[in-house]
Amino acid sequence: MTERHDCPGCGSTQLTGSLILPSQPVVLNYRFPTPVAAQQVERRDIHLRQCEQCGLIFNATFEPDIIPYDENYENRQCHSTAFEEHLISVASSLVEYHRLEGGTLLEVGCGKGDFLKLICRLAGAGGDGYDTSYLPGPQAEPPHLQFYSQYVTAAEIRRPYQAVLCRHVIEHVPEIGSFLKSLHEIAVAAGNPVIALETPRVEWIFDQLSFWDLFYEHCNYFSEPTLAYLCRQAGFEVVRHRRVFGEQYQLLELRIAPGPASEHPPGILETADLLQFARLIAQRVESLSRRISDSARGLPWGIWGAGAKGVSLANRFPDMAPALVIDSNPAKQGGVISGTSIPIVAPDDSRILQLQLVMIANPNYAPEMAATLQRIGFTGTTLTL
Ligand SMILES: [Zn+2]
Repeated sequence: MTERHDCPGCGSTQLTGSLILPSQPVVLNYRFPTPVAAQQVERRDIHLRQCEQCGLIFNATFEPDIIPYDENYENRQCHSTAFEEHLISVASSLVEYHRLEGGTLLEVGCGKGDFLKLICRLAGAGGDGYDTSYLPGPQAEPPHLQFYSQYVTAAEIRRPYQAVLCRHVIEHVPEIGSFLKSLHEIAVAAGNPVIALETPRVEWIFDQLSFWDLFYEHCNYFSEPTLAYLCRQAGFEVVRHRRVFGEQYQLLELRIAPGPASEHPPGILETADLLQFARLIAQRVESLSRRISDSARGLPWGIWGAGAKGVSLANRFPDMAPALVIDSNPAKQGGVISGTSIPIVAPDDSRILQLQLVMIANPNYAPEMAATLQRIGFTGTTLTL
């Protein structure tokens, strides 16, 4: 793969920093048909670079077509109470602040449609959802909701919308500058709705030194000032910009700006400096490996959470791989972790009791996971990252 030498956000050719994570699985959130298929997942290096102008951190050797965003792509997290609460809080805040009751909502990249269904229920609204990984379920969708297994552009907009929702999409889109401009065209065609973007905050990843939050599916990592700047460059004004989900994510609400954008680019900030992060990461890998070996003492250990964080972590310690990964999502149970032969088991699986250590990948879920482990009689150590 050839390396790109321009920023996909602002187009600048002034790039700096370099962090290479070698041979990573190209997809983490995926149901593999067989253990062999999981082990034979395609692998590529992640080569992160940072734009000196706008501060965007991106994978300079990203190959978008290698990631299978098909019906086996499975990234739902809604089987956790903490995540469910997050979704309800985001949805109800959008409905109240922007008065979306009884309106019509559009979701760009709606996944399996869970969030659109939730917010339309809260708002008494109708909705259209677009996603190439959308798969019709066994039951017909309610008549006020339409889903399309395709990408959406302004050409598909045939009626006004009060809101355009785009959650956990922009970190997957390689040509992010053009994508934000196409969102602007959608907003114009839809009659100036509120645009709500949700995406991880790179500041959180860098503060926590959570190198397992860097993975192939995410080709972009946004600091708050970088994301706001790129949206203004695309012709939006920022209505609200908040940290959500224990500050791991940022939620940006936009409208079409009345005039042209004029703002100095934020550049590289102390809080999200790739070069600085790259210097600290080797030490972090070593200290975490030591904590695992000290706690597990050569006995089997496991990870709670077969989401991106957990799958990423399971791949980072090939010499002392976990025996299993626990997940409450029935669609994941019985499957195998991408890039490995590690099984995914349910929270009541008896094999958990034989573990010496369970590592909890996402601190937001720690209380409910610790409670479940206690309930099933787990007596080993838990380690929350
Ligand atoms: Zn840039």
